[in-house]
Amino acid sequence: MSGDPRRAIARTDLLLADPLLADAHRQVGPVLVKQAVRDAQQLARAGRIEPAAVLYTALAALPVTPTRLRRVINATGVVLHTNLGRAPLSAAAVEAVTAAAGYVDVEYDVATGARARRGRSTLEALRAAVPDAGDVHVVNNGAAALVLAATALAAGREIVVARSEMVEIGDGFRLHELLAGAGARLREVGAANRVHLRDYADAVGPDTGFILKVHPSNYRIEGFTSSVGVAELAGLGVPVVADIGSGLLRPEPLLPDEPDAATWLRDGATIVTASGDKLLGGPQAGLLLGDRDMIETLRRHPIARALRVDKLTLAALEATLRRPVTPTATALHADPVELRERAGKLAARLVASGIAATVTASDGVVGGGSAPGLTLPGWAVRLPAELAAPLRRGMPCVVGRVRDGHLLLDLRCVPSADDETLVEAVEHACS
Ligand SMILES: *Cc1c(COP(=O)(O)O)cnc(C)c1O
Repeated sequence: MSGDPRRAIARTDLLLADPLLADAHRQVGPVLVKQAVRDAQQLARAGRIEPAAVLYTALAALPVTPTRLRRVINATGVVLHTNLGRAPLSAAAVEAVTAAAGYVDVEYDVATGARARRGRSTLEALRAAVPDAGDVHVVNNGAAALVLAATALAAGREIVVARSEMVEIGDGFRLHELLAGAGARLREVGAANRVHLRDYADAVGPDTGFILKVHPSNYRIEGFTSSVGVAELAGLGVPVVADIGSGLLRPEPLLPDEPDAATWLRDGATIVTASGDKLLGGPQAGLLLGDRDMIETLRRHPIARALRVDKLTLAALEATLRRPVTPTATALHADPVELRERAGKLAARLVASGIAATVTASDGVVGGGSAPGLTLPGWAVRLPAELAAPLRRGMPCVVGRVRDGHLLLDLRCVPSADDETLVEAVEHACS
């Protein structure tokens, strides 16, 4: 077929020889460049772009780093969105990660030239943040913290745990199965809705490794319920390992039902475990805080080496602890009045571009398995639902929430610096 516009699509080898793509090649490597070129040629063949636009479409589709991880603007209103990587790092933490990416004294004493305790400055920062902890240790994530405690303190022995606190944390993983996998036997006590101190007291014996208290972070049991607090459990004469999950180090007035490390340690928990990338707003990590000798036992256990965190995590965690104004805290405390004002301005700009945008109230949530049932009143830009897919596939990708046949872009977790990008993304998705 002569005159077929598809003939005008440049050949792959010619495109790849273009200096612009050669630059991109050095930046992100051959595989991603070739894929971008093929995708753009495909679009041209399908008549969705002009043949002359292939080169620029390929360039525009390339990531800025040699990964396929896409930057996402989180307009879901879910502060700790597990699928979107939970807590975003603060600028201070990002800088710390970059600085730590080269050679660093993570395990080296520059004064003496000898080996030093790994990550000591991060551990110091964590101890300073929670003075009630005799000592602290950091592992890969909250689940690893529990595995380490179970392996080092209860392998071949019993962990006493309430049936009402046997939590599934997501993707089918259950804490009690994790602990059993570490070689501990579970001694379940109480009923699904209620447990009493005497249930624990009856179960404790010479075989007890520890009592496990779990904050049921991602669900609530309502009605005829009772549970036993850390202070009472601590009186039973065996170690109490308390999993707060959320990573709050101190009480947070906005989240009165979320336990924090300082309070549970003061109540008598032997060890508190928590995640680094939930309400603490730091990198993925597992925190263990508590009794000095117990922490030393955990730290020296052979399995600890397999759960060790890397220098990037240590750097990000330390920066998070020393400069605690995190994007997570900002999103959590976002002022509804300001959110409404921003939503109004964004909607007005979109309307001026001929897009059917309005402003609507929108409830955010904490997410990440924290504070179930708590809603965070906020505001969103409301758009036609058909925009959800093109916005998701854009660069950067924008993820909102579809409600009642509309797409809501909830501004709680969108830094105001991204407002302009958001407008452009919506305009692009409409074009
Ligand atoms: C999230 C959570 C965990 C698991 O922590 P990860 O950091 O995701 O491994 C364990 N226990 C509770 C109560 C949690 O909320």
